[in-house]
Amino acid sequence: MYDAIVVGGGHNGLVAACYLAKAGLKVCVLERRSILGGACVTEELWPGVRVSTGAYVLSLLRERIIEDLRLRDFGLKVYTKDPGVFVPFGNGKQLRVWVDTRRTQKEIERFSKKDADAYARWVGFWDKFSEIVDPLMLTPPPRVSDVRELLKLADSLEFDEEFALDFARVFLTDAKRFVEEYFEAEEVRVAMVGDGVVGTFAGPSTPGTAYVLAHHVVGSVNGVKGAWGYVEGGMGGVTAALARCATSLGVEIYTSSPVDEVLVRGESVVGVRLWDGRTIEAKCVISNADPKTTFLRLLRNTDINQELLRRVSSLKTTGVSFKVVGYLSELPDYGMGVKLGSEHIASEYIMPSMDYVERAYRDALSTGFSKDPWLSVNIQSSVDPTVAPRGYYSFSVFGQYLVYSDKLDDLKPEVGRVVVDKVGEYAPNFKPIKYEVLTPLDIERRFGISGGNIFHLDMTPDQLYVFRPLPELSRYHTTIKGLFMCGSGTHPGGGVTGAPGYNAAQEVIKWLKQTTHGE
Ligand SMILES: Cc1cc2nc3c(=O)[nH]c(=O)nc-3n(C[C@H](O)[C@H](O)[C@H](O)COP(=O)(O)OP(=O)(O)OC[C@H]3O[C@@H](n4cnc5c(N)ncnc54)[C@H](O)[C@@H]3O)c2cc1C
Repeated sequence: MYDAIVVGGGHNGLVAACYLAKAGLKVCVLERRSILGGACVTEELWPGVRVSTGAYVLSLLRERIIEDLRLRDFGLKVYTKDPGVFVPFGNGKQLRVWVDTRRTQKEIERFSKKDADAYARWVGFWDKFSEIVDPLMLTPPPRVSDVRELLKLADSLEFDEEFALDFARVFLTDAKRFVEEYFEAEEVRVAMVGDGVVGTFAGPSTPGTAYVLAHHVVGSVNGVKGAWGYVEGGMGGVTAALARCATSLGVEIYTSSPVDEVLVRGESVVGVRLWDGRTIEAKCVISNADPKTTFLRLLRNTDINQELLRRVSSLKTTGVSFKVVGYLSELPDYGMGVKLGSEHIASEYIMPSMDYVERAYRDALSTGFSKDPWLSVNIQSSVDPTVAPRGYYSFSVFGQYLVYSDKLDDLKPEVGRVVVDKVGEYAPNFKPIKYEVLTPLDIERRFGISGGNIFHLDMTPDQLYVFRPLPELSRYHTTIKGLFMCGSGTHPGGGVTGAPGYNAAQEVIKWLKQTTHGE
């Protein structure tokens, strides 16, 4: 009998498994796909062309986890993405956001001197914001009774009232308003707002999106706060390093092993049954699957409070993000030629104005697909030669909005055409040799995420901290004894952070100690 079975070999499942094994427990991981990684994966879709089919850039993975699990020793290598963002506006106008604040200010000065000054305040605000939020990531969400302690922490950091008010507003307001209060030039505003709608069925003016923006600034890469990077070999490099670590700690990993049901006797978990009928026993089960999959599918034969099931069903999980992955024989020419330039290293934002992004959202609300979508083009092979044969460039376009439905297969050719044409408006030579479109329906089928939501649940404040996924499920325990959750649907949410896996493992270790003592 295992001490713990982890259902799912996504990065959070692997992080949880590593910490449990480090604590001396007998652990196995059961993954439904033939490969590990969940949405943090590299796939060779054409000979020699390796693309990140899910997540494509890294920042949020906690340094503590990288160090504890010695992931660099197990092969994790990250190239800093600098510039982080490149926005072409047409007519030769463009803006780059660099890792270095001063260098970015120089870019911004071309649009507005005032905004260049405001940029230093903007960076300062997010630095302070991260100082508060960072320690809250590797711990269960604070209880209401913990708020006094948090306020004491804020007090000791000597934040002024203006900061405190802005901090609170991040949880309430919209990304558009937050950005507009800092910056006056439209070009600067849109370069700053881009991440505010990622993975969320919301426009930049939807309340709550300021926090979506915030979630994207609380990371670091190679010691640089707020920076993002490309993982050598694609995002599967993260999960490959985790799998090596897990194996070295004695974790048993089984791929092509879909779990059909979590088995419950009385009020307690006793193990799982696989699709092939085999049953495996364990003292506890930790689900890396999203909350809807866990409660509505894996527990379908268990007697669970109907009200709880209704509330799980009503979680906001509608996927709106899509990917187009492929390869090119020439780098996109944004007016500076096809030789490798800094624009190719950056995330190339195809979103010339705030209104453009808002329209893309409103369009999708009424038709299901934005005629002019929000796009971020990333060319990993601009820094990493391991992902495409010499002379070729693998790329990923992450886009919004394409609303999840079970009828998206017929729309794929149109989505591909729209994306290629739209990038082509700014880089006319963008003509992929081959490409594949992944709709939210494909994301659901490929990664097993219900609704195809890239973060399992929207990252809006009503589904964060103690509300993620629901107050009674927010501390990784569930209403069934011995059943835990460790995926992005738990605090602190989506993105390749490793934090839900870490936090869940700590709760499991405590629980197992208590139950063993009680026996
Ligand atoms: C298209 C896309 C782009 C993204 N871009 C980024 C990005 O650039 N940067 C970033 O930080 N984040 C990004 N994200 C978000 C990030 O990838 C996810 O939040 C994160 O990888 C989720 O990790 P997880 O371990 O919580 O869950 P998952 O990766 O979803 O893993 C869950 C695992 O459980 C398995 N599973 C499910 N059901 C069963 C079952 N019944 N039996 C066995 N196994 C099962 C699944 O196959 C899967 O492997 C992106 C996501 C997507 C989809």
